[in-house]
Amino acid sequence: MNRLKAKINDVFWSKYDALVRDVVIPYQRDALNDNVADADPSHAIRNFRIAAGEEEGEFYGMVFQDSDVAKWLEAVAYSLENHPDPELEKEADEIIDLIGRAQQEDGYLNTYYIINGLENRWTNLKECHELYCAGHMIEAAVAYYNVTGKRKLLDIVCKFADHIDTVFGPEEDKLKGYPGHQEIELALIKLFRATKNKTYLDLAKYFLDERGKRPYYFDIEWEKRGKTEHWPGHRRRGPEYDQSHLPVREQSQAVGHSVRAVYMYAAMVDVAMETGDEKLLEACRRLWNNIVYKRMYITGAIGSQAHGEAFSFDYDLPNDTVYAETCAAIGLVFFANRMLEVEPKGEYGDVMERALYNGVISGMSLDGKRFFYVNPLEVNPEACAKNGNMEHVKPVRQKWFACACCPPNIARLLASLGHYIYGVKDNTIYTHLYIGNNTEVEMDGIKVGLTQKTNYPWNGKVSIDINLDGSKDFGLGLRIPGWCSDAKVSVNGQQIDIAGVIVDSYAIITRSWQDGDRIEVDLPMEPVRMRSNPLVRANVGRVAIQNGPIVYCLEEVDNGPNLQTLVLPKDAALVVSFQEDLLDGVNVITAKGERVKEEDWGKELYMANPCTQYEPADLTFVPYYAWVNREPGEMTVWVWEK
Ligand code: ZN
Repeated sequence: MNRLKAKINDVFWSKYDALVRDVVIPYQRDALNDNVADADPSHAIRNFRIAAGEEEGEFYGMVFQDSDVAKWLEAVAYSLENHPDPELEKEADEIIDLIGRAQQEDGYLNTYYIINGLENRWTNLKECHELYCAGHMIEAAVAYYNVTGKRKLLDIVCKFADHIDTVFGPEEDKLKGYPGHQEIELALIKLFRATKNKTYLDLAKYFLDERGKRPYYFDIEWEKRGKTEHWPGHRRRGPEYDQSHLPVREQSQAVGHSVRAVYMYAAMVDVAMETGDEKLLEACRRLWNNIVYKRMYITGAIGSQAHGEAFSFDYDLPNDTVYAETCAAIGLVFFANRMLEVEPKGEYGDVMERALYNGVISGMSLDGKRFFYVNPLEVNPEACAKNGNMEHVKPVRQKWFACACCPPNIARLLASLGHYIYGVKDNTIYTHLYIGNNTEVEMDGIKVGLTQKTNYPWNGKVSIDINLDGSKDFGLGLRIPGWCSDAKVSVNGQQIDIAGVIVDSYAIITRSWQDGDRIEVDLPMEPVRMRSNPLVRANVGRVAIQNGPIVYCLEEVDNGPNLQTLVLPKDAALVVSFQEDLLDGVNVITAKGERVKEEDWGKELYMANPCTQYEPADLTFVPYYAWVNREPGEMTVWVWEK
């Protein structure tokens, strides 16, 4: 399936588009240049100046600091696609020039090793992220080239990738390594698609094929460099941590560091698509099923434990000690989107939607200035402060991290969201996401314009207007979300019986489309009590409220403290009202709930008698993604039901 690029014009997402352009990109540029007061310095641009010999100084920051500059450039590229901005483009061009000046004669480009000693490059792939940084720079270059047509950064990364190809490969004199943090694999596919140079596809495939072979490459390089570690103790994280425990085609369970995992799975889908490797695709399907049916939070977040920022085991989904990195939810969107490219199945679109509307955008404050790295589903601020097991969980979003992977990652995804709405395959245009937008696609030489309008996710009414010269036969696929049981579709006011045309949760309407045709989709949204598989220990007896794609939570600011003492009676009605002035305008859900009476438990810590006395409590649920944009306090997604 080919992706279509759409220009977003949407009640919900245009705000994010504007935030990325007006707040996040300028803020991150200031952060990269160390111009944000009271936030950790980034030093990322200075590292490039020092590497270019234009400034004296030491390397500062994480070993992968270069990737922040790359992710910023990638976000800038997508933003320029939506909103041309000569000033911003000039700034980006200047940074690209600087990157070019830091590049070595042989193509090598990584400020940590350029500054600290090139003799040590490629000696610690497990920990030092050279290939990861290269990957992000490649992604930035392809995006910048696709949008601006400028080749400079593309030429820089091609030279770098050519250099990498001289270092790694099956030939005897080359290293048999692969990245400690996957990323370059999916980037090389993009570079292959942009340049048509098959070297890059082969290199991506090589990195995937080497992973999981024995002996473990990261032991070999460790011996070779004198058994040193960049991060003491890191080595104890065995091969599962970086998904090197098995050859990729034999993997069935999502294990280890969750961002590494989903970046790799996304690349596996890409390589399978480009090479027709069925065995590789089968592994992708198995890994997908393991995540989606056993290891994913209801918010689309993944990564249950802080230890190793990793998956743990099936159904282990604690809400408060969770990791759920924003980048991992973003990676799941990448994985889902690529699975959709292979086979348009609604479940991929459903998960993409779930992650986007919940676990991804929860990572950013509504003003675009603060970010979560960890996205808990249950928070007690005192526990975050005093219980060491929750040290990683922050009760409020932070300004900028010393390890700043998530903020620029969320920026690049939001700025490129127009690439995720549609796909075209076999004479059918598939609509994966309901987001207001305009787009144009050529079907056998005839230009077809689509204008989508909707108030999604606040209601499920969507219209799509077709614009073309004359008429054209093609299919229009409309994803019927898994949460919707009563979808209706009409064309020019005439309702269509979709039951007979649904294939894998897409209603496919094939006809001779005329200019001015209007499709209306009605996906009725009702607040629903969602329950977990009982093997999810943390959620037994509890429900989460979901309305359309949006998952809800209770916050202390609306419901008072001790959220665990609140209960939602089984027969309580869930009432939806749109509140324009709250949290930039959201559907709020209220219910007549109850609270355990304090006198019922008295002073005892333990008691033989169950709590029986409850007092009425008005429960107010707000969208999870928008939590803690007011006063900090407790929050929970799962609430007791009785
Ligand atoms: Zn991150």
